[in-house]
Amino acid sequence: MDAFPLDSGLLIGSAFEAGQETMEPILNPRTGGLILEVAEASAGQVDRAVEAARRAFAGWSRTTPAERAAALLRIADRIEAEADAFAALEALNCGKPINAARGDEIPAITDCYRFFAGAVRTQHGQAAGEYLAGHTSMIRRDAIGVVASIAPWNYPLMMMAWKLAPAIAGGNTVVFKPSEQTPLTALKMARLLAEVLPEGVVNVVTGRGQTVGNHLIHHPGIDMISLTGDVATGRKMLDAAAKTVKRTHLELGGKAPVIVFDDADVAAVVEGLRAFSFYNAGQDCTAACRVYAGRKIYDRLVADLTSATASITLGAEDDTTNEIGPLISQRQRDRVASFVNRARELGHVEITTGGEAMAQGFYYRPTVVAGARQQDEIVRREVFGPVVSITPFDDVDQAVAWANDSDYGLASSVWTRDVGRAMATAAQLRYGCTWINTHFMLVNEMPHGGLKQSGYGKDMSTYALEDYTVVRHVMVKHG
Ligand code: NAD
Repeated sequence: MDAFPLDSGLLIGSAFEAGQETMEPILNPRTGGLILEVAEASAGQVDRAVEAARRAFAGWSRTTPAERAAALLRIADRIEAEADAFAALEALNCGKPINAARGDEIPAITDCYRFFAGAVRTQHGQAAGEYLAGHTSMIRRDAIGVVASIAPWNYPLMMMAWKLAPAIAGGNTVVFKPSEQTPLTALKMARLLAEVLPEGVVNVVTGRGQTVGNHLIHHPGIDMISLTGDVATGRKMLDAAAKTVKRTHLELGGKAPVIVFDDADVAAVVEGLRAFSFYNAGQDCTAACRVYAGRKIYDRLVADLTSATASITLGAEDDTTNEIGPLISQRQRDRVASFVNRARELGHVEITTGGEAMAQGFYYRPTVVAGARQQDEIVRREVFGPVVSITPFDDVDQAVAWANDSDYGLASSVWTRDVGRAMATAAQLRYGCTWINTHFMLVNEMPHGGLKQSGYGKDMSTYALEDYTVVRHVMVKHG
């Protein structure tokens, strides 16, 4: 922790200043100990951040795509140059294993900025032409304005990249609020961004949702709200947006179904679920958490997944051996434990491994809940922890119906050796993404986003650039 300085200043325009409101404790999830306290922004500071973003908009929105691309490439290079420090800070604040933060997340984050640097220079649209005699019509894609970007705690630096890169590529300016639990990498990023970008293009304010976030989303100077967070928080964004008809971009929760047919390669399924259900301690809205297994392979899948899950390394002294970390907070750990405890009380359910907190920090053991039924809470509600339910099914129609019977619609997967069955099943699933014989894999070229109460709006891909820009028609009368 002493190896690198910790930034706690808000970025407003080009100036760094301490928050003027309540001190928020930032805890180390491995130990529960205090890392440091970060002061919340006051309403006046949020107002000044919005004003700075509004002032910067006129200039930034008129830069060329090449100029914005150059800035995004410099951001990626600078993160890469400090990759070890960013990864160490993210690992400290979130409890992530250092190998996951450094090896998985940082490369995906730099690639995100680089993807949007390229994407903004190659945007497509309808051909200009004379759609009315004597008039030429053309389509423009322009910036929306000032975006309030509000991020969750599960992937702080990556969510910042997903939100900032398409927004500033599109010519918008931003007021960014990290989660009150995980502001440290955002505050370090603020230093970097202030050096690379013109004054006010990105501003960073810290604080809780009900105070700082609430003031920000109701601000009349905000044109668009972008949230990754809970469904309940998403509803608040919609209420706030209604007053001045702000645009919204909502990435909310998930409860990903995993359909495993009897002909699937069970060893590959087990290896996949061991990784894709428990990565980031299951604090992932695409986590493979709701398994439906064909009746013939159900017993073997439960047995093999149970032993594979029990072999996951966590809480080890040597962090380079850890595969997953703790949960973000005691509250989140207690929430996960209460879901599992309520499931345990059901007569038909068996906790085949895990099912308990560990003595240190906010750790919870990776858990398999076998024999769960479609109406059980553990199958229906988002746990956001290292917990997988398994439910046997009898035929494909039942599996698809149960998979779709959810308020959520973010991610899903189908496991089978029969390509026709895989395609037919994928076509029926009401999810923003369906993986076949894998799960969880994301690439910056492809969109990520949901249906139903998982929200709308895409992260990553050219679709995100579309979401953060507006289509305009310009018509010229001849002569
Ligand atoms: P959360 O909704 O509690 O908080 C998310 C952010 O919203 C935080 O920065 C918080 O301060 C802010 N916020 C909360 N209340 C607010 C208010 N009234 N006004 C303005 N801002 C407010 O979510 P969380 O607990 O940080 O994150 C976990 C949730 O995020 C899970 O439900 C998870 O599924 C979801 N999530 C979704 C995706 C996705 O891509 N769909 C990705 C990651 C996380």
